Amino acid sequence: MKLAAKISISMVLLALLATLIVSLLSGIAIRNSFDNYIDKNLSYRLELYGELLTSYYQDNNNWTDVQSVFDTQSKGRGMSTGYGRMNQGLRGTGHRMGPGMGLMMGSNTGDFLLTDLNGKIIAASDSTYIGKQAPDSAVKYSLPLKVNGDPVGTLIMLSNQRGEWESEFVSSVTRATLWAAVVAVAIALIFGVIISRHLSSPIAMLTVAAKRLAGRELGYRAAVSTGDEIGELASSFNDMAESLERNEKLRRNLVADTAHELRTPLSILRGNLESMQEEVITVSPETIISMHDEVLRINRLVNELQEISLADAGELRLNRRQVRVEELVEKVAMLSASEARQKDISFSADIPAGLPDLDVDPDRIVQVLLNILANALRYTRPGGMITLSAVPGIDEIVFSVKDTGDGIEAGELANVFERYYRSDRSRSRSGGGAGLGLAIAKSLVEAHGGRIWAESKVNEGSSFSFTVPVYKRQPG
Ligand code: ADP
Repeated sequence: MKLAAKISISMVLLALLATLIVSLLSGIAIRNSFDNYIDKNLSYRLELYGELLTSYYQDNNNWTDVQSVFDTQSKGRGMSTGYGRMNQGLRGTGHRMGPGMGLMMGSNTGDFLLTDLNGKIIAASDSTYIGKQAPDSAVKYSLPLKVNGDPVGTLIMLSNQRGEWESEFVSSVTRATLWAAVVAVAIALIFGVIISRHLSSPIAMLTVAAKRLAGRELGYRAAVSTGDEIGELASSFNDMAESLERNEKLRRNLVADTAHELRTPLSILRGNLESMQEEVITVSPETIISMHDEVLRINRLVNELQEISLADAGELRLNRRQVRVEELVEKVAMLSASEARQKDISFSADIPAGLPDLDVDPDRIVQVLLNILANALRYTRPGGMITLSAVPGIDEIVFSVKDTGDGIEAGELANVFERYYRSDRSRSRSGGGAGLGLAIAKSLVEAHGGRIWAESKVNEGSSFSFTVPVYKRQPG
């Protein structure tokens, strides 16, 4: 079922439920107060009727023909006929009765009976009772009638059924409730449709965007600008699309770069081998060294790719142990100093004495330093300078490699740690890597719980820094 239909149906059900509850509660309340009102009314009437009958007895000194009083009242002529005292009594109490209501024994009030002193019915609003004994049950009120202090009879009212006006009142309330339900359902339906449209249209837009994305239209974005949760979902969706697009671009770059990186050394090797085969060149130590260099280049690329896939799979295993900072720096300096010399770049290591030991996998941290130093050597021109330093921090050591090289544009600085990222400058020159060196360095540093960052100014130089944890002696 569509969301819009679900919302509309829920709204209608809610409106129906609310009307039902309100009508039930108001029905109970109305019935209670109505019963109350009728009870009060009846006992008041009983008294008035008693007075009416007592004055009849006083006037006649017996009950002969008393049925005429009941008949007169049953016809609804009320107290205005005959017994003026009653009329005054009613007015005196300020009680207002509608025309024709009178004492209205009968249909809407229950039956009134007059019994003599022996309990025999001598008059009744329903004349079929006359001559019978007063019933024991079904008596709602009974009022002994006295004249000059002597009992002359008893006025009895049998339990009343709901009168006509009560049922009319209840049915008019029911009618009004039904109308209220119809109006509430209509309003709920209108609001349901409006709200569901409002809610479902951004979702529909998101669905379209998701389908387009699934169809590899990676540049498509969801045009949802609401400030609610759906808006948040849309902006997360767009972020996801953005990162998918970026990753797809990087993946394409990687394939192109890897192919390119492999093609160059492979074609050099192939050319050399074919020339040797055709005896165009002779096998000399120089050709073998240059061919070996190309094999090393391919090897490095394959290693980097393997490293990055391990990091992707979360399978970088670290053999951590207590390591002296000097131990690492010596290894790195030995490997980099000769290359620096060859390129006429001055290389120095600035390591203060007394640094705490590290808690690292030494091979991995050497690799991080070598990746950063390889870049520094690659992007620094002859006559430049590279400095490796280490300073203590809180529970960590901060290593930095500073160079006086080409520097990195501010806009590119944020991307240098991304996989397969290469700046346009480095693309244009030969000898660059595949854009994996810094991404691998970042994975390795983060696997140790450290951070890595870069600062740079174009044509002034760059500085790459990272932190690694110091070794803490186990307590005891
Ligand atoms: P690569 O293996 O291609 O050098 P890296 O991930 O090591 O890849 O570096 C990514 C990019 O960062 C390089 O292509 C280069 O543009 C830039 N870069 C890294 N180090 C430096 C540096 N010391 N000086 C200038 N640019 C640098």
